[in-house]
Amino acid sequence: MDRIILLCMVSSSISAAHTQNFLFSPKWGPVGFKEREEDAVGTAMDEIIKANEFQASRIIDGSTSLREGDIAVSAGRRSKVCFARSCLWSKSVDGHVYIPYKLSPDYTEIDTKQIKKGMENIEKGTCVRFVPRTHQRDYIDIQQKSGCWSYLGSRGGRQTVSLQSPDCVQVGVVSHEFMHALGFVHEQSRFDRDNYVTIMWPNIWRDRLRNFEKFRTDNLDLPYDYGSIMHFGMYAYSQDGEPTIIPKKSKDTKLGQATTLSHIDRLKINKLYECGDRDDY
Ligand SMILES: [Zn+2]
Repeated sequence: MDRIILLCMVSSSISAAHTQNFLFSPKWGPVGFKEREEDAVGTAMDEIIKANEFQASRIIDGSTSLREGDIAVSAGRRSKVCFARSCLWSKSVDGHVYIPYKLSPDYTEIDTKQIKKGMENIEKGTCVRFVPRTHQRDYIDIQQKSGCWSYLGSRGGRQTVSLQSPDCVQVGVVSHEFMHALGFVHEQSRFDRDNYVTIMWPNIWRDRLRNFEKFRTDNLDLPYDYGSIMHFGMYAYSQDGEPTIIPKKSKDTKLGQATTLSHIDRLKINKLYECGDRDDY
């Protein structure tokens, strides 16, 4: 209820104040991720927003669209219940979670190296292993569709992860999309996020307010992770260059991650897949 009231207030206040600026913006799209001197290294999500907002369509095909900027949702699927435990990849008797993949032959050698680095990034310290598909029924099909996106969790059968070259073929972006494929949503979508961050609704590009929804997430008893590779950056979907997410902890807390998983991201994977806390993965 609170949120509905807030959204109404937001939409009426921003429409007057910002529509004009937006319409006369020199470039189409939100301007919040322009280069900033004090924040030169963006987050993985900043790169994804750049790729998806400026080049890609939000509608992937007739029945599939993007939610929260880069999570593919097919009409008719009960995707919102697909959090954490409901769409896990199966675990092998040896304790590893093998994710079979097929890589499009369109990628260059350099692209392939980057994508593999993204996989290694996930594998390090976790029980997940990416393996080239041979005969497995469930697998990810990595292709150059439009932009960077993934479905949430394992859907069964072949599922696409789109990594368009060159914008999406960066280690951090690749890792971020594989985290979605493992079943993780964005960190600031946690139901308890309002205890940790303030969403600056009036600063968000009006058409993208829905990207800041909260969901009934399983937080796996792990602390809120400001430095998660799944966290939006402070200026995500900003329409006027002002912050859209402010950490409550301290203004200096850095949100998101450019290239690597955080320590808690790794714990998250091991907890979700019940892999324990071993150091020898
Ligand atoms: Zn994402």
